[in-house]
Amino acid sequence: MKGTYLIRTFGCQMNEHDSERIGGMLRADGMTPTAEVADARVVVLNTCAIRENADNKLYGNLGHLKPLKAENPDLRIVVAGCLAQKDQGLIQQKAPWVDVVVGTHALPHLLDLLRRAEDEGPQMDIAEYTELFPSALPAARNDAFRAWVSIAVGCDNACTFCIVPFVRGAQRSRAIGDVLAEVQGLARDGVVEVTLLGQNVNTYGRDVTVPGTSRRPLFAELLRQVNEVEGLRRIRFTSPHPHDFTPDVIEAMAESEKVCEHIHFPMQSGSDPVLRAMQRSYRRERYLGWLDRIRDGIPGVGVSTDIIVGFPGETDADFADTLDAVSRARFDSAYTFQYSPRPGTRAASMPDQLPKEVVQERFERLVSLQERISLEKARAQVGTETEVLVEGAGRRGASSQSRTRTNRIVHLQGALDPGTFVTARITDAAPHHLSGEVVPAPALV
Ligand code: SAM
Ligand code: SF4
Repeated sequence: MKGTYLIRTFGCQMNEHDSERIGGMLRADGMTPTAEVADARVVVLNTCAIRENADNKLYGNLGHLKPLKAENPDLRIVVAGCLAQKDQGLIQQKAPWVDVVVGTHALPHLLDLLRRAEDEGPQMDIAEYTELFPSALPAARNDAFRAWVSIAVGCDNACTFCIVPFVRGAQRSRAIGDVLAEVQGLARDGVVEVTLLGQNVNTYGRDVTVPGTSRRPLFAELLRQVNEVEGLRRIRFTSPHPHDFTPDVIEAMAESEKVCEHIHFPMQSGSDPVLRAMQRSYRRERYLGWLDRIRDGIPGVGVSTDIIVGFPGETDADFADTLDAVSRARFDSAYTFQYSPRPGTRAASMPDQLPKEVVQERFERLVSLQERISLEKARAQVGTETEVLVEGAGRRGASSQSRTRTNRIVHLQGALDPGTFVTARITDAAPHHLSGEVVPAPALV
C-alpha cells in the first residue's frame, strides 16, 4: 500500500513493542510515517484493556475519526491490541467506519487484512493462538539506540483483577537462540540498551527447552547470555512476579555488569487478605523480605512497583497495611492505580465493590505518601555523579532528558545527542526526576 500511516499506542511496553512491529510491516509495504492524522492513509489505534478508562479512550478516538473517514473514504482505520482481542465484533458494531480489527495473536496478518479491506470491506482477525512472535516481524523503532525485546508473550497466572491472560493468552516463551540473535543484531545496528519484556519474566523458559537438551532455560541464564552480547551497554527487564522470584536472578543481576540496577517489582497490595483475594501467591512479609535480599545483593538498586487501591472488599485496615508496607518498602517510585473492574475477571463479580469516593480518598493518601518517599530518595542523590544515557530533547528549551542505570530521569542543560553516555552531577531533585550538569570527560594525556 502507498501513502502514510499514523500509529497511536495506548498502554504498556508490550504495546509499544507491537506498535514498532506494526510500523515495520507498513514501512516494508511501502508506507511512510506521518504525525498528522489528516494526512494519514492508514490510522492504527493499538489499544489497551487493562482499565476501563482505556476502553473509553478507544471509543473516544474512534468518534474523532468518524468525520475524517466521512470526508476521506480512502482512509483505513485499524484497531489492534488488547481491546481488539477483548471486544472483537463489538468494535465494528459500535463504529462501522473501522476497516480492520486485528487481535493480539493475529498481528502478522495485518497487511493481508488491509489488502482484503480494500476489495471486500471491513475485516476482523481474532486468532486464539500466537503462531509467530511479533518480534519476528520487521520493526520501525522510535529510537536507534534502544529497543524492546519480547522474551515471552501471555501469562499463566490468574490474578483475579487482571484481564491480560484473557487478551494475551497463556505464556509462550521465545527460544533462547531467537532472543540472543535479535539482541546481537540490535547491538550490531548500534542499539546500546535493550529491555527484555514479559508479563512474568521469572517464568521465562518454562515452555521451551535449551536446544539439544531437555533442560528448560532459566531467566537468570538468559540475563547472563544477553550480558555477553558485544556492543550492548545496558540491559533492563520488566516485570518479575514476586511469587516466582529466585535468588539466581539477584546473583545474575549483580554479576552481569550490563544489567542495570533497577527492578520493577509489583506489590499490588500490602494487605495479606487482599493479596489472597487477588490470587497473588506471596504475602506481605515475604514480599518485604525479597526486597531486603534484592537490596543486599544489588547495592544502590532502584525499585519501582505497581499498587492497586480499592480492590473489592479492601477495608480501612487493609489499606492501612498497604500504607505501612509502602513506608517500609521505600520504593523509588510507584505506579498507583484505582481498581477498575474488568469484564470476565473474578474480581469484577466479587461482592463489596467499593464506592468511588472511598477509593479516591485512599488513592490520594497513597500518592502523597509515595511522593514524599520518592522526593526523599531523590534528594539523597543530590551531589552524586552518575552515568546517564541521553534519551532525547527535554521539555524546556535547550535541555536534554537522560536516564541513570537505576531508572531515574535526569534533566540536563544543553542539547545532547540521543544515545550517548555522559557523567551527570546531580544538582537538584523532584519526586519524578533529577536535574544535573554534565561532568566534562577528563582530557586524554
Ligand atoms: N504482569 C505484570 C505483573 O504481574 O506485575 C502486570 C501487568 S499489568 C499490564 C500492569 C499493572 O496494571 C498491574 O501490575 C496492576 O497493578 C495494574 N492493573 C491490572 N489490572 C488492573 C485493574 N483491573 N485495575 C487497576 N489496575 C490494574
Ligand atoms: Fe495480570 Fe497477574 Fe499475569 Fe501480571 S501476573 S499479567 S497482573 S495475571
